[in-house]
Amino acid sequence: MGAAQATASSARRPALGGWRDWRAWPDSLAGLWRRSLRFRTVLITLALTALAIMIACVWMALAIQNDLFQSRLQQVLADARRATVAAQTTLDASEPQGDSVQLQNLWGAVTTELGQQSTSDMIAAFRIDRTPSTIAPQDFSSVAVIDDMVSDGLRDLVQSDPEKQWWQSVAVPADAGEGEAPGIIVGQQLLVPDVGAYELYFAYDLSTASQTLGFIQGMLWVVGIVLVVLIGAISWFVLRSVTTPIGEAAQTSAKLAAGELGVRLDVHGEDELATLGRSFNAMADSLESQIKELADLSLVQQRFVSDVSHELRTPLTTIRLAADMINDQRDEFDPTTARAAELLHAQVQRFETLLADLLEISRYDAGSVQLELEATSLAHLAEDVIGSMQQVAEQHGTDVRLVAPGGYSPVDMDPRRIRRIVRNLLGNAIEHGEGRPIVVTVDSNRNAVALGVRDYGLGMRREDAERVFDRFWRADPSRRRTLGGTGLGLSIALGDARLHGGELAVWSELGRGSNFVLTLPRRSGGIPGTSPITVDPGADDLPGGEDLGLTQPIELPAEPEVAP
Ligand code: ADP
Repeated sequence: MGAAQATASSARRPALGGWRDWRAWPDSLAGLWRRSLRFRTVLITLALTALAIMIACVWMALAIQNDLFQSRLQQVLADARRATVAAQTTLDASEPQGDSVQLQNLWGAVTTELGQQSTSDMIAAFRIDRTPSTIAPQDFSSVAVIDDMVSDGLRDLVQSDPEKQWWQSVAVPADAGEGEAPGIIVGQQLLVPDVGAYELYFAYDLSTASQTLGFIQGMLWVVGIVLVVLIGAISWFVLRSVTTPIGEAAQTSAKLAAGELGVRLDVHGEDELATLGRSFNAMADSLESQIKELADLSLVQQRFVSDVSHELRTPLTTIRLAADMINDQRDEFDPTTARAAELLHAQVQRFETLLADLLEISRYDAGSVQLELEATSLAHLAEDVIGSMQQVAEQHGTDVRLVAPGGYSPVDMDPRRIRRIVRNLLGNAIEHGEGRPIVVTVDSNRNAVALGVRDYGLGMRREDAERVFDRFWRADPSRRRTLGGTGLGLSIALGDARLHGGELAVWSELGRGSNFVLTLPRRSGGIPGTSPITVDPGADDLPGGEDLGLTQPIELPAEPEVAP
């Protein structure tokens, strides 16, 4: 079973939410990401460069931090060594006295010298041998806190080796007196004659180095951010030079596709974009000339059809008059001649209808059709047409019903053409309706009036329904025909509907019948919008649930057999 529905389609675009509505941002950004090549490329470039610059900055900051620390460490180690060596030289140069007072004086001179020789102002010395001695000078600390800074581990190491220097990172009191600053404490031994070895500690403040490091890190961040912004801006501008011509090319090709054959691209320079522009223009030139050729050819054909139809009219009128006359006298002929006269009469009539349709079509093609608008009630017009076709419907045993909940108020239309459309739709429905009831619906809404013709006959396959408006097209030549159509009826009907700014849509399903819906805008030149009558009828029931006897399956025409 094939179902088909052909309606006017309208491209819908989601309304762009304003940037002020922050809830619409994710959607807007996703839309921008999909639509804008420039936005996408700049965002990717920004993300990648930001990552690269961040890795470079972190690596540089770590390297600088390490280098700064190492050079400051070497500096303080050399400083502590120099002060220790100077103090040791002074101690070694003095004669061993064994005298407590002289030793105290010497110790005083040594501690002063340590202070002078070293850049550190936090110095401490602790006697290693804790056995009481009357001559040993007291432990010395330039500041009290240094005692707490020296860890037991560092003291053990210093005590273990008389020659080596040891160091440890510690927190030292900040210069300002509040809080702590990073620092290094360096320890080694100092040998006092007659008394023994002392642990000697120098604490250094590293806050200047850490300030330098902070400044460098800050600069690295600033430079990194400025670089990312600059790269973003540069890539935005560079991309503009590529995407703008691409955008122009896209717009121009859209215009070309819409039928503006004269549009061309501005071509500057000789780069790839210029080559693209030139090729595009060459393609447009060739397209324009070919379409012009085809249009000329089609014009010649149209003129030929129009001329031939016009030329045929006069002899055909004579032939029809003669055929009418012969037909009127057929009772006097022998049966064979009478049958021939009847056939001649019928075919001449058919020929005349075909010629009239051909002339009408050639008028559409020439664009010379003028609407004669008149305020008309579609419901009353439908009633008229149904009345005029009542006899034909009765001959087919068909009951035609009018359901008109709306559509009475007059709407500007060309009544002659609309009547022709309704007659055609109703004629087709009677012809293909298998004697079942036909429902003609007329309804309206704010923008449009519509008329639907629903039959419950044979219907059509989907691919057939799609071609129903094609010129000279007929669904199945094997179908029984009584009204003798030309295959041009629906094509003319669609042309008439479109002339009114309206639409003619079809739904059809094999075995379930067809539904044709004509929709006309209320004001000429207006947009019909959604039709008041839906094309797809959904379920097979009449208003009021009347039984159509559709429980009996419809006998479909047999598919043509294919010879083996
Ligand atoms: P014709 O003059 O042959 O009726 P139309 O353009 O009016 O030409 O219709 C084209 C073809 O569409 C018809 O030959 C018929 O096969 C098919 N058709 C039209 N209306 C119906 C309908 N209501 N039910 C089934 N087939 C239809």
